[in-house]
Amino acid sequence: MEPKREALRHFEAGYEKILEGFRELGYEPETDENFAGTARRAAKGLHELALDRAQVHDEIARMFQKTFPAKYKEMVISKHNMSFGCCPHHLLPVIYRISLAYIPTDKVLGISKLSRLAKLVSRAPILQEDLTHELARLLHEELESEGSAAYVEGLHMCMASRGASAHETRVVTSAVRGVFLEQLATREEFIKLVTAAHPSLI
Ligand SMILES: [Zn+2]
Repeated sequence: MEPKREALRHFEAGYEKILEGFRELGYEPETDENFAGTARRAAKGLHELALDRAQVHDEIARMFQKTFPAKYKEMVISKHNMSFGCCPHHLLPVIYRISLAYIPTDKVLGISKLSRLAKLVSRAPILQEDLTHELARLLHEELESEGSAAYVEGLHMCMASRGASAHETRVVTSAVRGVFLEQLATREEFIKLVTAAHPSLI
């Protein structure tokens, strides 16, 4: 995905100011060679955690244009996709483990697309709750599925590395649509499958 030059320019200017703050703390960003190019690198790093919304929107639209006819009406699950984003409250990184499911009506998505979807939608300054609902919504509305579910575990650096220092805590959110909302058994099957302890496949 193409970096947005205008955004990078603003991010970089912001990080230049942040480095001035470091000088107040007794560091020497102007003379310490470890800081050479830091504002630019930090800007690129932040941009990787917050992609351009229009580009993400277009890529997701393209993804849902390429579907396959559904042969079965069983639950499809993509479990434990690791992805990254940042929280809108602190702009600090969040590490997510995302599990997605849907029950098809007529269309199925290529299986790798579920992983791609999890990774794309999370790279934004978005609340974990909103991310979870957006993933469930896309799998329900765009696939015209019988129902969909998202289960997201988040390790938030704003909680882990500062403030509460709660590095052991995982924030868990879930969202369900369609049959997952209407049928308790379907919802329970999903939660059981995505939370079950399992030995590694390989
Ligand atoms: Zn935060």
